Amino acid sequence: MGLELLFMLLPIAALSGWAIGRRGASGVEPQQRISQNYFRGLNYILEEQPDKAIDLFVQLTELDSDTVEVHFALGNLFRSRGEVERAIRIHQNLIARPTLTRSQRNQALLELGRDYMTAGLLDRAEGIFQQLLADSQHKQIALGQLVQIYQQEKEWERAINIARQLDENAPQPRATLLSHFHCELAEQAAHQGDVERALKLCRRALVEAKENVRANLLIAELYMERDDLGAALKALHQVEAQEPAHLLDALPLLVEVHARMGQEGELDSYLRQLLRRHPDTALSLALTRRLAHHTGMEAASGFLEGYLQEHPTLHGIACYLDLLSHAQPSDAPEQTRLQLLRELTARLVEATPKYSCRRCGFSGKSLHWQCPSCKGWDTIRPGIALDTPQH
Ligand SMILES: [Zn+2]
Repeated sequence: MGLELLFMLLPIAALSGWAIGRRGASGVEPQQRISQNYFRGLNYILEEQPDKAIDLFVQLTELDSDTVEVHFALGNLFRSRGEVERAIRIHQNLIARPTLTRSQRNQALLELGRDYMTAGLLDRAEGIFQQLLADSQHKQIALGQLVQIYQQEKEWERAINIARQLDENAPQPRATLLSHFHCELAEQAAHQGDVERALKLCRRALVEAKENVRANLLIAELYMERDDLGAALKALHQVEAQEPAHLLDALPLLVEVHARMGQEGELDSYLRQLLRRHPDTALSLALTRRLAHHTGMEAASGFLEGYLQEHPTLHGIACYLDLLSHAQPSDAPEQTRLQLLRELTARLVEATPKYSCRRCGFSGKSLHWQCPSCKGWDTIRPGIALDTPQH
C-alpha cells in the first residue's frame, strides 16, 4: 500500500530538502518543519498506518501550493481505493484552511462532493454541487454531478432543469439526456393513468431529440391503450427513419397492432420491405417464424434460404437447421447428423448476447434505455455479435 503514496510524496520531500540546502542554515525553520513532518508521514505510510499519516498532514500549519497538491493527491487516492472516510477528512481539512485561494477551495469542495457521492451521501453532495454552480470554473462539472444525483433519485424535473445548462462538452449529448428524462416523466404519467400528459411529454421528448425511438414506442403503447391503432401504427413506422437497429424492439408492438387490426399479411409484407432496406438477422428470423406459423414450413424455409444466400449468418443457419430437422421424418438416416449439427450451432448461438452497449461494451439479454454499467443513455443496441451481415 505504501509505495504509490511514497512516490507521490517524494517530490515534496525533495523540494523541501532542496529549499533547505539553498537557504543554508539560517531562517529555514518552517520549511524544515514541513520537510521533517512529511518524512514522518512517509514513514507512517510505509508502516501501513495511514491514519497516523493523515493526522500528521492535517496538523501541518504551513501549506504552500505544492503541499496543497499533495493533500489533493492523497485525498483522491484514498477515495479511489474506497477509503472514503479518509478522503473526506483530508478534503474537509483543506476547506477549513483560511490560506487557500478561492480556486483551491472550490477544487477541495468539488473533491469533497465526489467523496460524498462515493459514500452514497447524495444530499450532502447535492448541497456542495449546488454551491459550486456559482463558480464558473467548476460549474460544468457540478452540473454533471447534479444530473447524476437527480437521475439516481429519479427526480426528473430537477434533472431536466440542470441538464439544460450543460454545455456541448458534456460526456453525453444534452439533447439525449433531456429527451430520455422526458420519457421517464411520460412513463410516470402513464403509470398514474394520465395518458394525455404522457403523450404530451413523449412529443416533448421528440422535440428534444427526434431520433429517440423510446418516445415513439411509448406513444404507440399509449395509443394502443386508447384503441387508436392507426395512430399507434404511425408512431411505430417512424422507428425505421429514427434508428433501424431498434426495429426489433418495435416488433412486438407491430405484431400486436396488426393482430388487433386483423392485418397479419400486411405485417409480413412490411417486414419484407424493411429487410430489403435494412438486412437484419433477428428480424429475418422473426419473419421466418411468422411464415412458419401462418403460411407453412415451405414458405418459411423458402424465404430463409433466399435471405441467407444474400446475408449468411450463424443465427440464420441455426434457424435453417431447425426448420430442416422439423421437415425430415424422424427415422431418416440423416436425422442424427442433422440433430448434432443443429445442437452445435444452437450452442454457439446461445453464447452470444442479444444487446450490447456501444459505449462500454456491456452486454445482456434485454434492452435498457440507460446502460446499467456506464449509465449512458441510448447507448444499447440490439445486435448479435457474430452476425454482422456479410455483403
Ligand atoms: Zn454502457
